[in-house]
Amino acid sequence: METNFSKEQLKDQDNKSSEKIFRKCVHCGFCNATCPTYQLLGDELDGPRGRIYLIKDMLENNKPANEKIVKHIDRCLSCYSCMTTCPSGVNYMHLIDHGRSHIEKTYKRPFFEKFIRGFLSFALTKSTNFRIISILVRGIKPISFLFPKKIKNMISLMPIKFPKKNLPNLVVYKVEKKKKKVARVALLTGCVQKVISPQINEATIRLLNRHGIEVVVPKNIDCCGSLVHHLGKSDLANPTFKKNILIWYNEYLKNGLDAIISNTSGCGTTLKDYGFIFRTDKDLKKKAKKISELTKDISEYLDENVKLNFVNNKDTNKEYKIAYHSACSMQHGQNIHKVPMNLIKKTGNQVFDIPEGHLCCGSAGTYNLLQNDIAEKLLKNKVSNIEKVKPQFIATGNIGCITQIANGTKIPILHTVEIIDWYTGGPKPRVLKSL
Ligand code: SF4
Ligand code: SF4
Repeated sequence: METNFSKEQLKDQDNKSSEKIFRKCVHCGFCNATCPTYQLLGDELDGPRGRIYLIKDMLENNKPANEKIVKHIDRCLSCYSCMTTCPSGVNYMHLIDHGRSHIEKTYKRPFFEKFIRGFLSFALTKSTNFRIISILVRGIKPISFLFPKKIKNMISLMPIKFPKKNLPNLVVYKVEKKKKKVARVALLTGCVQKVISPQINEATIRLLNRHGIEVVVPKNIDCCGSLVHHLGKSDLANPTFKKNILIWYNEYLKNGLDAIISNTSGCGTTLKDYGFIFRTDKDLKKKAKKISELTKDISEYLDENVKLNFVNNKDTNKEYKIAYHSACSMQHGQNIHKVPMNLIKKTGNQVFDIPEGHLCCGSAGTYNLLQNDIAEKLLKNKVSNIEKVKPQFIATGNIGCITQIANGTKIPILHTVEIIDWYTGGPKPRVLKSL
């Protein structure tokens, strides 16, 4: 794609990076074929190629965003299916991030939209905020029909109950004395995940400890910053990124870390991008790069580093039919697809891909809250495709997908790590008790 940035504009490092990406695009439009919003809406501007043009035009001509641009960019899921398809290696993720940040700086959203986005940035990025708001929302659930559709939808998605935690809150989860410690990792426990599904972190910690891996959960790390980053709010995201980088880097230097484990692929994708985000920050770039290099999805880490000890008992001797939902942030954001499926296959169960598995379930961070009409259609399609496989349960590696899909089907859904923990000596996951 031809670009016309001036020399002055290219002094800006973000423009400079984006210009390189624009130049890789050859307008072929292959990406449109696998874009969920293009498939649903059929508008060129709701596909990756059209969005790339919109972003380029806005940046190159130094234009403030307008209503039309915002509409089409907001409808992008950041699912990155287009990146997997693109034959020219266009890094759409960096373009859309740049575009969103430009929108946030140059566009004045209508009051209601601004309020909702501000509210989500406050509520979903700190576990204590999320817990308090969920408790307050519980009181207004019975009268939620009185609110506008968007708010009603948000209220319906807020949890009513918080599952009981079974592990104490510790900073370091040590390996049992009689076992040999073979590695030490940090775990990102996630701001929303640890409140609504603490069993995922517990399964991760138990599984790692059982295999000789010490787990550290640094006290002041709550959110990875990706939710606000994807809203274009770099003024909120960057301080969180910086704080996390410094805490983990300090831990790495002081006590040693073999990896930083993410068990939420949405967060993992952002952690792996910290190095790019701070590429021009002379104080942070080396540290950020190191953090990105250390980051591994739990499935990736287990596959590369751990010889799993599977156990046999009356539950694990049964053979289950499992549908594997590949989260977009996992398959497109981190290029990890077969690894979690192969891990689950090692448990002796049947594991199936879902038809049209490259398409998003509609969760996409805050997307199901902000673009609920499109998200509902995507969920409906996803559930119908899952049902074609006729699974007894569904496995995936991202809390957002778990919450979204659980809203559309009665088939139990759980995290891959809960299955591996169970088959290596952990408890049977709660959602499978009836099987
Ligand atoms: S990230 Fe997903 S929704 Fe956005 S343009 Fe790419 S394929 Fe389409
Ligand atoms: S597939 Fe890649 S090169 Fe082709 S239009 Fe899409 S982004 Fe551009």
